[in-house]
Amino acid sequence: MYLGVDWYPEQWGMERVEADLEGICALGCNMVRIGDFAWDRIEPREGEYDFSFFDAVIQKVKARGLSVLLCVPTATVPRWLALAHPEVMRAREDGTREPYGGRRGCCLNDPKYRERAVALARALAAHYKGETAVKAWQIDNEIGHEGSDLCWCETCHGGFIDYLKDRYADIQELNDRWGTGFWTQIYDRFEDIPLPRKGDTPQNPALRLEWERFRARSAESWLKALADAVRAEIPNAFVLHDFSASLWGKRLDPFAIAKDLDAAAYNHYPVWGAQASAMDPAQTAFALDTARGLKGGNFWITETLIGTQGHDYLSCSPKPGESALWAAQAMAHGCSNLLFFRYRGYHKGAEQFCFGVLDADNTPRRKFYEVQDLFARIEPYQNVFSTLLRGEAALVFDYDSAAAWRVQPQSDAMDYGGEALKLYRQLWKRDITVDVIPADADLAGYKLVIVPAMVVMDEEFKQRLKDYVKKGGIVVLTFRSAWKDADNNFLFGERLPAGLTDLIGAELEEHESLLTGQSRGVISPGGQETGEGQVFCEMLSPTTAKTLLTWSPCAFGDYAAATENDFGEGKCYYLGGSFDETLLSRLFDILLPPCGLNAAPVPEGVETVKRTVGDRTVTMALDHNTKTFSIEG
Ligand SMILES: [Zn+2]
Repeated sequence: MYLGVDWYPEQWGMERVEADLEGICALGCNMVRIGDFAWDRIEPREGEYDFSFFDAVIQKVKARGLSVLLCVPTATVPRWLALAHPEVMRAREDGTREPYGGRRGCCLNDPKYRERAVALARALAAHYKGETAVKAWQIDNEIGHEGSDLCWCETCHGGFIDYLKDRYADIQELNDRWGTGFWTQIYDRFEDIPLPRKGDTPQNPALRLEWERFRARSAESWLKALADAVRAEIPNAFVLHDFSASLWGKRLDPFAIAKDLDAAAYNHYPVWGAQASAMDPAQTAFALDTARGLKGGNFWITETLIGTQGHDYLSCSPKPGESALWAAQAMAHGCSNLLFFRYRGYHKGAEQFCFGVLDADNTPRRKFYEVQDLFARIEPYQNVFSTLLRGEAALVFDYDSAAAWRVQPQSDAMDYGGEALKLYRQLWKRDITVDVIPADADLAGYKLVIVPAMVVMDEEFKQRLKDYVKKGGIVVLTFRSAWKDADNNFLFGERLPAGLTDLIGAELEEHESLLTGQSRGVISPGGQETGEGQVFCEMLSPTTAKTLLTWSPCAFGDYAAATENDFGEGKCYYLGGSFDETLLSRLFDILLPPCGLNAAPVPEGVETVKRTVGDRTVTMALDHNTKTFSIEG
């Protein structure tokens, strides 16, 4: 197990290295992450490499017995590259370029940026391939963060056209599948297809979904090129990438990217910048379980905060004990290696307000001792944290659906990740471990599978879902399931949810979107339970299903809002609206016992996670109310 800090000796100079390492060792670290954002230090001019600074640093790190996570620093580019090739900077939708001087400002498809980044990765790997202190490689930093998942340049346009040529047999097939006869858009050649820039009226939804897929492929191929460059020199290199927050909301598929990595890493900031309050513990747990899902196994935290963080704005600071609790929660949810951002905040530059273990006063105080105490408490349990954590329930992430929701939200209240979190929260508050899985993952073995708002659903997934339920699986589907095909179109001649009416045992008769602030009353058949549905009101006619909730009578008539259907050996639950938490909790009280899962909520804000190694069971109790935790066993 690696415990450590992100460290930027190039910002302080060699004269401070020994003193820093003294402090880093005193903290209880066994690893430092170095090199992130240091491209110009390593390649001061194009093709001229200078490894002398990091050579000297690594020798001193090694002398202390510490290991290194070495970064391929491609998320910011040296001035010489942007001056000689201004086209490396990303193009915004209005055609203007991202200015030089920030980070993640470059186009992932730009050939010059890619050429220099791959060359840098290769040169670094060639230079350090015999260096035993380097245990792992981090490629790039926080891909897709801060708007960098989009670029509207000519290179991206050309790449998009090539991508479409690859996807469709010919232009006629594309015209047919996209329905370009609508609004007189029939294309003669792939080259005539525009990028779907925003206008006063919407672009074709099939075009927009393909653009979202192309953006995801761009991120995937960028990281694969860097990983391949490292592995070309070091075939057995351990390569990871550090993903940033909002894994459910970026124009990239982190699960697809992770397939090319040896480990997924996550940069965990429960509070950042102008965020009014920290994420609540279910939100942090959801983010951590998503990170664990990326590789279906343990993950790294390559950055987490101990001091307050932000660029130009700051909000609440982590309270005493809170950062340690967040770190302990990460370990409980499958993190097996953890590094704090950063050893010392830098008093200059755009991240002056990203405070570290030490502040600019360079004096160990409360934060230093909190990290020291945390490391001392978790280090004895490293064999526990290295075991795999497997969930009893699964929550399905689908990139196509995430993208389709960006293209057509249907309601301004719709938030794909938010709806997933809402359902996740029901399991979290009952101490049920959840695996977040991609749609192509195996469903077998889960006691419960939740598929939130999977608006784009292909026939293969529908069949796997039915097979899972037939064999005794229990599934929860929500509003807008299977409305669209892979082209983001409705299926002609199909009742909604398309291809799933037998599984659900109900058909959609009427529907309405509910906007922010709007809701519709919901009642149980006996009238004992009442509550509200938001976002969407799907009015269902059961065929074989039992009605669990009905919508309050309205002009459309009386319809079911939530149903339960026996299908084969299993059951399918369908939720036709986004129900309030109390109502949702009652529904989970009903559906969890048949799954063989705990239905009783645990005390609010208290989380208990058990990890077993051989015949030893270790219990972690995380008390988010008092910001304390214990590890026993
Ligand atoms: Zn571009």
